[in-house]
Amino acid sequence: MNALREKGLPDAAARRPIPPFTQEHEDFREGVRRFVETELRPHAHEWEDARWFPNEVFERCAELGYLGLKYEEEYGGQGGGYVADAVFAEELARCGSGGVAAGIGAHTSIATPPIWKFGTEDQKQRYLVPAIRGEKLGALGITEPDAGSDVAGIKTTARRVDGGYVVNGSKMFITNGVRADFIVTAVKTTAEGGHHGISFLVIDRGPGVESSKIEKMGWHASDTALIAFDDVAVPEENLLGEENQGFYLIMANFQWERIMMALGAVGAMQAMFERTLAYAKERTAFGRPIGSHQVIRHKLAEIALRIEAGRDLTYHGLRRFVDGADAVQEVTMAKLATQRAAFDTADDCLQIHGGAGYMVEYDIERAARDARLGPIGGGTDEIMKEILGRSLGL
Ligand SMILES: Cc1cc2nc3c(=O)[nH]c(=O)nc-3n(C[C@H](O)[C@H](O)[C@H](O)COP(=O)(O)OP(=O)(O)OC[C@H]3O[C@@H](n4cnc5c(N)ncnc54)[C@H](O)[C@@H]3O)c2cc1C
Repeated sequence: MNALREKGLPDAAARRPIPPFTQEHEDFREGVRRFVETELRPHAHEWEDARWFPNEVFERCAELGYLGLKYEEEYGGQGGGYVADAVFAEELARCGSGGVAAGIGAHTSIATPPIWKFGTEDQKQRYLVPAIRGEKLGALGITEPDAGSDVAGIKTTARRVDGGYVVNGSKMFITNGVRADFIVTAVKTTAEGGHHGISFLVIDRGPGVESSKIEKMGWHASDTALIAFDDVAVPEENLLGEENQGFYLIMANFQWERIMMALGAVGAMQAMFERTLAYAKERTAFGRPIGSHQVIRHKLAEIALRIEAGRDLTYHGLRRFVDGADAVQEVTMAKLATQRAAFDTADDCLQIHGGAGYMVEYDIERAARDARLGPIGGGTDEIMKEILGRSLGL
């Protein structure tokens, strides 16, 4: 029993490597953890208060190779594949600011992958290479004021003109939407409705592109914007992938985005749990540590179970994904299992902290606000259940 008591809830770093992670990945994890602890976490309060984190964070990440982990060396990447990126996402979640993790994650996990996967060599040179160097920052613009879950309902149009397109419309809730130098943007290229008339354009910030920052419940350090496009001229060579085939591009990246969100939730839950476990051992009430009251001991046991279940599902989805298998079911389950779980975990941890949990100083209230986005962003929990339900033939 005593040995068990000392065990805590070991995370990936404290275990033998669990496939698909290798010892090399675990060594890499140590370095990322050190970076997060020493260079990001100490600034979390300040950046959240400022409702912004400096662009130098991207530059520093670039210097350490973190913006190009999965990309080939010929583009300035590390050639480390998806698994290295997965380690980074899980560790980044420990930085104490969902906004910082979201800003970096939007650049590396949703804005640049479509250029890597679907871009021409010229597009990779113009956008991916400077993005990996931290010189150009990216955003992905799909959601609109009138279309979120129902992607086929987007209304931003790209009208064909000589040499390219003219774009009109708006994008809503776009992460990095204020600071981004380029926006990988979903547009309608046919008048007909439905999935088939969607294309992607890489739109540079410039004349006709107007961003306004939106205040939100959490993720304060990230800039979330409404972006208006007013007669924006986009050259032909900025069409990403084939015209009218943009829906496939959206679907292709969703799996990766959802794995990243699941990994982020697992990392965030683990960090909250560790802090709360320590608090439950130190804080006393009625003459003994609060953690030795059975209700709290059981609550922490439930949280540990929730994290372990979420982590195992997420690693399973990641394994299937990196093996090139059809991982839609597993990835959907991982996202669904971890996002509400992270919010519930934050709320439980807050409760265990009592009044201190409600105070800004202890970070738990921020973790709860940040975690609330999970069941909404990257496909809502309801949409995840739809995908899962349909995969069962229903
Ligand atoms: C902080 C933040 C950052 C974001 N960053 C980005 C970004 O960088 N790029 C980007 O493109 N988007 C981004 N989003 C948008 C996000 O992806 C959408 O908010 C999300 O997909 C949900 O869309 P919606 O808000 O329009 O909700 P809606 O689609 O209007 O849904 C409203 C409610 O109805 C439910 N619902 C909808 N359809 C169904 C159905 N068929 N069955 C059952 N229930 C249903 C939903 O689950 C939800 O509960 C961000 C959002 C936030 C809040």
